Amino acid sequence: MVNSIVWFRNDLRITDNAVINYSLENNRKVLPVYIYDPSTSLGSASKWWLKNSLISLNKSLKGNLIVIEGEPSKILLDLVNKNNIKEILWNERYSKDDRSQDNEIKNIIKNHEVNFITFHSCLLKNPQNTLKKDATPFKVYTPFYKQQYQGMTYELYNYNTEEIDYIDCGHKEQHLKILDDFIKTEKWHEKLHDKWVPGEAGAQEKLKVFLSNGLNGYSEGRNRPDKQYTSMLSPHIRFGEISIREVAKSIENINTEDAEIFYKELVWREFSYHLLYHFPHLVDTNLQKKFNKFKWLDNKNHLESWQKGMTGYPIIDAGMRQLYQTGYMHNRVRMIVGSFLVKNLMLHWSHGQEWFWDTLVDADIASNSASWQWIAGTGADAAPYFRIFNPITQSKKFDPDGVYIKKYVHELKDIPSNIIHMPSDCDAETLKNYGLILGEDYPSPIVDLSITRDRALSAFKELSTEK
Ligand SMILES: Cc1cc2nc3c(=O)[nH]c(=O)nc-3n(C[C@H](O)[C@H](O)[C@H](O)COP(=O)(O)OP(=O)(O)OC[C@H]3O[C@@H](n4cnc5c(N)ncnc54)[C@H](O)[C@@H]3O)c2cc1C
Repeated sequence: MVNSIVWFRNDLRITDNAVINYSLENNRKVLPVYIYDPSTSLGSASKWWLKNSLISLNKSLKGNLIVIEGEPSKILLDLVNKNNIKEILWNERYSKDDRSQDNEIKNIIKNHEVNFITFHSCLLKNPQNTLKKDATPFKVYTPFYKQQYQGMTYELYNYNTEEIDYIDCGHKEQHLKILDDFIKTEKWHEKLHDKWVPGEAGAQEKLKVFLSNGLNGYSEGRNRPDKQYTSMLSPHIRFGEISIREVAKSIENINTEDAEIFYKELVWREFSYHLLYHFPHLVDTNLQKKFNKFKWLDNKNHLESWQKGMTGYPIIDAGMRQLYQTGYMHNRVRMIVGSFLVKNLMLHWSHGQEWFWDTLVDADIASNSASWQWIAGTGADAAPYFRIFNPITQSKKFDPDGVYIKKYVHELKDIPSNIIHMPSDCDAETLKNYGLILGEDYPSPIVDLSITRDRALSAFKELSTEK
């Protein structure tokens, strides 16, 4: 019998996982491993999620998961030698750094008579195979969707996880204790426990609830942060606790606009990975080079007010506080706060990308980078330069009664809905009657919307019209 390492990375599940399927079909004895590599940067919220997800995965694997901290090639080599390993199995990762690390590992270990067998279980399709007819990558979402994904159906793997045959390497209980040493719990994390259940069971529950409560009405409802229409699956998908094919399959036979729009959102994730794979510098460089000479502003006070949810614009402050309190922000609000940062404050999109990276439980290298470039207008298929979200109009439209605002901006809990979207438009006496003194209980707006809008329009227009 062949001994194989199953190296878990962004696929922390045992169901519908190509690697597990291969090991069962080929009667492998497996050593499931997770390597925590301190050189890869993970945000604080992601670390919390990862730790809890690994605890859950270990249960699914009947306590057989080995968790080790260190440099992956060294650790794998050591495990190969100690356990007579002949094969290493993994699902591919797609960022430039991950891909070069994987190639390096293959080079280091290939002299040890070990085979590498790799799969693509983290996406619906291998991004290498989603090129245009002329073999160049897509830069526009709609043709990408239509030519590559529309009408696709998905087959899931069918196997019995009870049949997984584990290599016994002892000291199992030590491995999870190690997690406490290298992923420190921060006070901030306590709040996340109230909100999320990382792991496969939590993911399945979210999908079930979404299919019965959210999907019907999703196409309109997904824009409403004051209601619960979206699936909240993003961190589960990010860590691969649920197979993306399983999510797509769950709506495959539902012929409604809601199901199609939801499927299209899953394909936005694929599009982000397509961009990341074919334009690896997406993470740190403007996709449209002309923006390299854009004169972003540098204002630490503004950045800090944005991060803390103290801008004086209630919908923005609600979003930023939702993020800090729960590790999540509604998609519509992500767009509003993003536009405010890059257009009204004119701060570089990388500030937003970094803050989201640290605080989102679903922080994802492809979706986060592509979305920030989209918002800034610097990316592929990006928002046009003149698209500047007006936070007040957006707030009135998508949170008409201020329910979302009041949930996160407690200072405004007694403010009526006709005033709540922009308290500073109201006179001080009226606000006082509702128990609010602007500048004391809640900040005055940090910038003027109309002045900063005009400033952004002329700055972006200059560059955007350049070829
Ligand atoms: C500035 C900005 C940064 C973002 N950063 C991330 C990120 O780091 N990680 C992340 O997963 N999403 C990111 N998104 C996309 C989107 O906001 C989240 O995927 C969505 O809010 C997650 O909530 P949900 O699971 O309830 O979504 P649903 O509406 O239920 O969508 C289902 C799934 O589709 C995928 N999806 C939905 N919308 C998008 C999108 N626009 N782009 C890519 N995938 C999408 C997600 O996997 C999501 O879980 C970002 C969006 C913006 C505007």
